[in-house]
Amino acid sequence: MGGNGPVAGPLPYAEVTDEAYAERAAAGFTAQEFGSAVLLSGLCPRCHHPTTSTLVDELYRRAEQPAAPAGEPGHHTVLCECEAEHPSRPEGLLGCGAYWTLRLEVEA
Ligand SMILES: [Zn+2]
Ligand SMILES: [Zn+2]
Repeated sequence: MGGNGPVAGPLPYAEVTDEAYAERAAAGFTAQEFGSAVLLSGLCPRCHHPTTSTLVDELYRRAEQPAAPAGEPGHHTVLCECEAEHPSRPEGLLGCGAYWTLRLEVEA
């Protein structure tokens, strides 16, 4: 990674998603299990900064709730949580605003 040659300028924060994000993230992210949590790390498919997200197993947490969440089991919404600067980002937030759905194999 060189420090020269700026790319197209800083990417402004925007809450967007794209099917291609999920495909690229699925190919490039690594998942590590820590008990009931999964740590995902890779490059954000939108801003290409390193990002790490922690998923807590929702299946166990929601078992006691009668209303099941919409969506299929094993699908998680992942947000970009890079530490780089993105203009127009609301205070207190991380990342560029991109989000995508990641499918994890859930073993019973
Ligand atoms: Zn970023
Ligand atoms: Zn990003």
